Amino acid sequence: MGRVFFIGAGPGAADLITLRGARLLGEARVVLADALADASLRDLAPQAQWIDVGKRGFEDSTRQATINALLVRHAREAGIVVRLKGGDPSVFGRLEEELAALAEAGIECTVVPGVTAALAAAAATQRPLTRRGTGRSVSFTTAMTRSGALHAARTADTEVFYMAGRQLAALAQQLAAVGWEADTAVSVVSRAGWPDQLHSDHTVATLPEAALLHAGRPTVVTVGAGAATALHAPRVDTPQGRVETLKP
Ligand code: SAH
Repeated sequence: MGRVFFIGAGPGAADLITLRGARLLGEARVVLADALADASLRDLAPQAQWIDVGKRGFEDSTRQATINALLVRHAREAGIVVRLKGGDPSVFGRLEEELAALAEAGIECTVVPGVTAALAAAAATQRPLTRRGTGRSVSFTTAMTRSGALHAARTADTEVFYMAGRQLAALAQQLAAVGWEADTAVSVVSRAGWPDQLHSDHTVATLPEAALLHAGRPTVVTVGAGAATALHAPRVDTPQGRVETLKP
């Protein structure tokens, strides 16, 4: 009986995967990968049969059932199977369904974390998600409900919305409706962690303007404390080439 390793590939560039994830890819007999994973991740598993399960064209529920069945079959036949997911497997990754299918089949699993899109966006923009005094909580929220309707929220000082890219105008409206002031900072990042990542700054009132720039790209929308421009202290290059930050 084999074992399935769920591995977070990170948000884009292959070198954002963890060392543990990379090592396990090198041991895998079969890899079931999402479409978002960087093609060069394949180089980490040259020995494996690579199955792209991220292709569109399936009805969503059929696709999930197919993935579950493939995981069970390959774990029984092949030994080490890697299920490679974009970002972190535990964040909007349908991990629960796949873990349940494997548990039912009596197959053991391990989950290896990855860098989720919200963290990649924070790094790309140098906007810390938590701020001393103003940003004490962070929420990862999907903008989409099961029915496909858009849903905004105000549950934390910093709210990061996934899966809202196609409906930024509607999101702006809903943000205002749930109590975010019109001039609240909103940072929009698409393809965070990729060489062609894009970032734009808005407020709740001007968020609809981001739609064109980020159209058709995976996008996260950060609202509130974590979207504000960080007050960078002067940076000094030391003789060792290190960059240090001085307190203002
Ligand atoms: N498990 C993934 C999320 C999958 S849901 C993670 O942890 O990041 C898919 C959504 O994630 C997209 O609609 C988008 O909102 C976000 N996303 C994924 N990759 C992204 C990236 N590189 N840049 C910006 N948003 C991204």
